[in-house]
This record gives sequence, structure tokens and C-alpha cells, in this order.
Amino acid sequence: MITIADSLEEGERCLTIATKYEHIFCTIGVHPHVSKNWTKGSGEKLTALVGSSQKVVAVGEIGLDYHYNNSPPADQKRAFEEQLLIAKELSLPAVVHCRDAIVDLKKIIATVDPPSLVIHCCTERWEDVESLVTAGHFLSFTGIATYPKADEIRRTIKECPMDQLMIETDAPYLAPIPHRGKRNEPAFVVEVAKLVAQIKKKSLPEVDALTTQNTMAFFRLPS
Ligand SMILES: [Zn+2]
Repeated sequence: MITIADSLEEGERCLTIATKYEHIFCTIGVHPHVSKNWTKGSGEKLTALVGSSQKVVAVGEIGLDYHYNNSPPADQKRAFEEQLLIAKELSLPAVVHCRDAIVDLKKIIATVDPPSLVIHCCTERWEDVESLVTAGHFLSFTGIATYPKADEIRRTIKECPMDQLMIETDAPYLAPIPHRGKRNEPAFVVEVAKLVAQIKKKSLPEVDALTTQNTMAFFRLPS
């Protein structure tokens, strides 16, 4: 399992959990919601934290969120670009959050040209992420894809090559159907796997094996 941080403070807590349990890994990064907290010394802190343990397997969540704009877009862009650069310098993958910001997001990705990233909790139209997938990046899907109005997300799942697709929960948010409205749990990822199996016309064990394999390779987890 990989537990995801959205601030440096939370990153330290995630690392404590990851250090305690052999099967848990973590990511550390500053989320676009709190990008206004990304200041001059943040880069050094992030680099030190990420480099402090093999259990930190990616930089993230980083990205852009113009839906809520909890931080000003200029702050979001600066924090995203600088953290993406750190991921590149450390040769680590990045876990990227994007909401209503795909155009600017792709501009920054093109500028930094990081080796590998995943668009996590992907809600994008296929046309908007196809170039990223062609460049070798990954898409990861959550319980949102099980909701009735999520036809566009299901189309993106259909188009995404099976070897560049991952699944996740975004717990405690976005519980999949039939748990919608409840607190999301890591175990509910099976509902996302069932949906992918249906769309890709594969068996559940096949989707399980393939997405596990993709995750192990993407985050370079020890087997
Ligand atoms: Zn996110």
C-alpha cells in the first residue's frame, strides 16, 4: 500500500507509518490546495525528507487545482514546477493531482519533462491526457469512475493501455458505489478493479495482477 501526503508535515506522519509497516510505502509533496505554504526553504526540506528513507517512493501529491483555488494559481504553478523538478533530480516518479487545470498542467510537464508521473484520481477526458500516456506516463482511477455521471472517465479507462493503468481509492474521500457516501477505505479499491474488469473485458484476477504489476514497476517497489 502507498499512503499519500499532501503537506510536508503530513509527509513526516506518512513516513512514520511507512517505517513501521513493511508493506506500506509513502509519497511526500505539497498539494495544490496548500501551495501558498510552499516557500523558499520548502524545496530543501522536501529533498531531505524524500531522501531520508527508501520507503518514500514518489514526490506527491503535487499538481494544480483550479476548481477550488484554495491557493492562488500563481502559487500553485510555482510549487508544482519546483516539486516536479525535485522529482526529476531525485529520479523519482511524481503523483500528480489535476482538477480543471489540464492545459497549464501539461505546459509545466512539458517544461520540466520529468521521467515518470501518474495522473492520480484521473477525471480527464481521454483527448486531454492521451499525449501524456503516449509519452509513457500513467493514469490512476478511483471510485469516482463508478458514479452514474462518469461516462467520460469510463471512456478514458477504455482508451488507456492496460500497462499504464493503476487503481486507488483516494480514501477517505470518494467511496465507490456501493459504498458511496461512507468513509472510503483502502479495501474498497476492489470496486474500482471490478469496474476496470468490466470495461476492459478482463477477469478480476487479471486486473488485480496487471494493476499490481504496474504499481510495483511504477513506484519501483521491492518484490
Ligand atoms: Zn488528489
